[in-house]
Amino acid sequence: MNEGVIRERKRELNELAVEPEISLNAEVFLDSVRITGVKVNYYHICKTKLWLFSHNINLEKENDSVAIGKMLHEDRYKKNYKNITIDGISIDFMKAGTILEIHEIKKSKKMDEADKAQLSFYLYYLKKKGFEATGVLNYPLLNKVERIELSPEDEIDIERDIEDIRKIVLGSIPSPQRKKICLKCAYQEFCFCGENSWKGDDKN
Ligand code: SF4
Repeated sequence: MNEGVIRERKRELNELAVEPEISLNAEVFLDSVRITGVKVNYYHICKTKLWLFSHNINLEKENDSVAIGKMLHEDRYKKNYKNITIDGISIDFMKAGTILEIHEIKKSKKMDEADKAQLSFYLYYLKKKGFEATGVLNYPLLNKVERIELSPEDEIDIERDIEDIRKIVLGSIPSPQRKKICLKCAYQEFCFCGENSWKGDDKN
């Protein structure tokens, strides 16, 4: 990167640091398919959920765990909190220095793989835009912090995920597979209508 480009990136970073409300559209288009961080997250949780969401069948509603998440954001991290939106979803907070730090606050590590993949996708996207960034997953209830650096292997994985997401979205709906997380999923009735005797005993 030449000096002029570096200067320009620094200027953009400084603007990001002081703007109270920032919106970045982190999206990659593959054919007609729009790939976003949320889709990357759903890809790692459930392919059926990814397909339904991608076809605008949106049954998500705010539940208790979303409300707890909001309380965590607004309370413990109040000082750092800035409204930053990446592809329509709020990034919990960001610190801008020589390297941009993207922070996400999570209640638990239950969706660890999906959370890491989503944050890695944002780092990948920012890198493509010329921003050097690092990610931090904060688990205040567990008193843990996990740093996410984008490795060359991660970039290969993300590119593979993006291609897979494209195929899933353009294909027919993947059959729902029962998993523990189905019990808390807004699509549960849609997927398992008439099978309400199941209480989530399956392993995965
Ligand atoms: S209910 Fe289960 S199978 Fe259906 S979309 Fe949700 S997580 Fe996937």
